[in-house]
Amino acid sequence: MARLSPIALVAAIFALLMAWQGVVTAQPDSMERIDALQSLSEKDNTQALNQLLAMGPTLGAATPYTVRRQYLSALMDIQTDAAKMDAAKVSVADLLKLAQDNNDHVGVVLATTKSASIMALSGQTDVALAQLIATEAMALQTADVQALWRFYAVLGKEQLTVGRFEAALQSTLKSLQYARELPRQARTSYLRSINLLCNVYMVMTNWDKALQVIDQGLVVADEVGSAKLKGTLYLNQGAALGSLGRPKASVEAYDKALKIGRESGLVGLQATALNNISDSYLISKNYPKAEVFAHQAMEKYKEAGELGGLSTAQSNVGFALMGQGKTREGVAEVRAAIQFSQESGAKTDQESILGELGRMYEQAGMYREAVSTIREQQALTAQLFRTDREKSVATLQAQFDAVQRQKQIELLARENSLKDAEISNQRLQNIVTLLGAVVTVMGGVFVFLLYRRVRKTNLKLREANQQLEFHSARDPLTGLFNRRSFLDLMARRVTDSNNGRREDDSPDGLMILDVDHFKNINDTLGHAGGDVVLVEIAKRLRSTVRDTDMVMRWGGEEFLIYSAKANAEHLKNLAQRVLKVIGETPIAVADKEMTITVTGGFLSLPFSGLSEVDCNWEKAMQIADMALYLGKVNGRNRAYGLNRLLAPFEQVMPVLERDISAALKADMVELVEVLGPMMREEVAA
Ligand code: GH3
Ligand code: MG
Ligand code: MG
Repeated sequence: MARLSPIALVAAIFALLMAWQGVVTAQPDSMERIDALQSLSEKDNTQALNQLLAMGPTLGAATPYTVRRQYLSALMDIQTDAAKMDAAKVSVADLLKLAQDNNDHVGVVLATTKSASIMALSGQTDVALAQLIATEAMALQTADVQALWRFYAVLGKEQLTVGRFEAALQSTLKSLQYARELPRQARTSYLRSINLLCNVYMVMTNWDKALQVIDQGLVVADEVGSAKLKGTLYLNQGAALGSLGRPKASVEAYDKALKIGRESGLVGLQATALNNISDSYLISKNYPKAEVFAHQAMEKYKEAGELGGLSTAQSNVGFALMGQGKTREGVAEVRAAIQFSQESGAKTDQESILGELGRMYEQAGMYREAVSTIREQQALTAQLFRTDREKSVATLQAQFDAVQRQKQIELLARENSLKDAEISNQRLQNIVTLLGAVVTVMGGVFVFLLYRRVRKTNLKLREANQQLEFHSARDPLTGLFNRRSFLDLMARRVTDSNNGRREDDSPDGLMILDVDHFKNINDTLGHAGGDVVLVEIAKRLRSTVRDTDMVMRWGGEEFLIYSAKANAEHLKNLAQRVLKVIGETPIAVADKEMTITVTGGFLSLPFSGLSEVDCNWEKAMQIADMALYLGKVNGRNRAYGLNRLLAPFEQVMPVLERDISAALKADMVELVEVLGPMMREEVAA
């Protein structure tokens, strides 16, 4: 073997080094480029997208996998921000395929998370949530900080959208935890998580916590240099301080937002800050100042082209004038604002403006005008409520054939009158009498209260609340009550129990149901066929519960029954009836017949005599969910009910919430098993 001369050896080593360097640097170069474009997208999304697209053809099969993954991941983000949804969906699909081909879970989680968030943007929040929850285990398995940060941020955001506040809070806190571990250049991600957390606390009206989070966020916003997020944080700070009854500090915070808006040319931010300042002055009855700021806000809203804001600011001008005794002028402004928003279709809360007008009349001692305005407000509310009903009915009409349709409409009418009855408790009666409302407005009272609550929250929250408001009381597919209406019911439940009304009431029952092997059903019958099955299940459930029970579509193929004043025996019977009515007769879809079964979990609320402070409905639901899960594991088509705890609460709850089988093994709970129809035959055979 020929020996290499020393020179040749050095040259060879050098060449090798160069080649190695080439391999090593190729990757960071492209990676850095992609990172830089991602940063650029914060300031100029279009520019970033163009450059990124230009980069595409330079990446080939020889490009390292992680670079291609990063490329597609950045691309789908930037396309989404540019509202190019179809293109973004293609990138998501590309990423998913690439990741699967490379057997890389991080890529799969990134793609799945993005696809869920795109779905949620198009209104399919329930499906998005189901997809996210199905991905959680894999996300955790990757232990990849970036993927986990994204995953929990998106999950938290969607949970907030459907009003699952506690869960949203937990997810957001997790995302924040992962964001802390991200590299320094990803501080914007950290800031986003902070901003989301702030929104969660604001919607939960936990002002103190929101303020703490805002302080943290402001520090990071300075580091990152994001004027927009900093301005938003100051707006939130102002709103939180205002809600805590600190008007001066609140105005100071809005001032800071205003200043940032001016410095960075963010017109919308300036407009909102100005309008919020005028709002604060209205509240503290400093009407001349309120007028000045409301005028300024109008100018800025005009400049920003935000018609809804414009009419809100104009009504503020009117209120400020009324406060200064210029009633005629003021009323004219408010009326003009309402008319403008009606004609332009601008999104304002007309109902709340009318309410405010009524209050201003009252303050001016003009009681006749006050009453007539409040009547007008109620008529509008009733009309909104009617439209809401008409919408539910219209949805049903579109979905069912003639015979089914008639039945469903009757049912809906029955449930509506039931709901009316539900809300006619003493307090509401008083309000109704007081305002001299007629019986026909009764239905409106429910919506009236909803709107009142929305109005009470401050301006910054309006947007978030409107989003929640949007999810009306009905599920369009099945016509059942939706998750939202259950949350409202539970919120009222809390109020009732605070008033001590619940003390000697017998407990209510909660039963959660999940259709067995629904994915197979979808696979066999197609998604539309699956929908028909869901409608039929809804119908059967409604036919089997008591008139006073509430049946809800809890999620995709999950249903919830809330049975007021149902003792353990009744609940067990209900479970039996439910399993039977679903499982006994096959469901016909087109030319096929399928036997469908469900699995359930149920318990009483208050649970096992515990106070609802120790075990609130959310916890109870969690436990019912565990019971359902046990039913799935044990073969499906059955329901498990928990009667009572057999050991002290403090000892049982931590085990029960995590692992029901462990609690059973340790003899901590009493369990009832109810088997579905075919099961009984199997047992007999
Ligand atoms: P298991 O009973 O054991 O839980 O199995 P499963 O197949 O039911 O599993 P899982 O509950 O996780 O699946 C629910 C499926 O329901 C997933 C989703 O595709 C489907 N789904 C969710 N919402 C809808 C819907 O509105 N219409 C239709 N057709 N399918 C839906
Ligand atoms: Mg399910
Ligand atoms: Mg299922």
